[in-house]
Amino acid sequence: MVAEKKTHEGVAQFTTLESIFEVMRDNPIMDLVRENPVTRHVVNWGRASSLWPMSFCLACCAIEMICAACSRYDLDRMGSIFRVSPRQADVMIVAGTMTKKIAPTVKILFDQMPEPRWVIAQGGCASAGGPYNTYAVVQGADLVVPVDVYVPGCPPRPEALLFGFLQLQEKIKREQPLLLKKRGLSE
Ligand code: SF4
Repeated sequence: MVAEKKTHEGVAQFTTLESIFEVMRDNPIMDLVRENPVTRHVVNWGRASSLWPMSFCLACCAIEMICAACSRYDLDRMGSIFRVSPRQADVMIVAGTMTKKIAPTVKILFDQMPEPRWVIAQGGCASAGGPYNTYAVVQGADLVVPVDVYVPGCPPRPEALLFGFLQLQEKIKREQPLLLKKRGLSE
């Protein structure tokens, strides 16, 4: 008896991002799923409820960020657990003064985070340079990375950072996560 030749033709192999997008592009079921508001809410709920910030800081605002993660304020209860690698994180908290010297490193760290990713600018320095209107300080983190939420204060208390996370969750809940066209991946 001759063994039947096995072929992988026509079988979806999710080994590369391109193969995943290929299936999503051509599958009529995906079109229905994509436009279904229930799917959108479920995906957004999952993303908003598991925001993992990167363990990274720049200056004095970081002390308040650390407090927010400790037992009194307990950021973990919102599903936000600090990760040590940018590759495992989806939120960058720019906590502190961003100098022009450190800015390229911040950009590299942001580029190493996988999509979808979000940025919180914590404090006056990260939002707009703060008290340091000098040649050495970046006058706002949005000049380097795309900021989603600004938390005012010098420094903002941990409650303010928690409120920033709540605002980010509200923003994510309004996103269209499965619209590939928006990200230029559908063509
Ligand atoms: S906003 Fe104030 S507390 Fe935060 S990094 Fe700047 S100077 Fe420090």
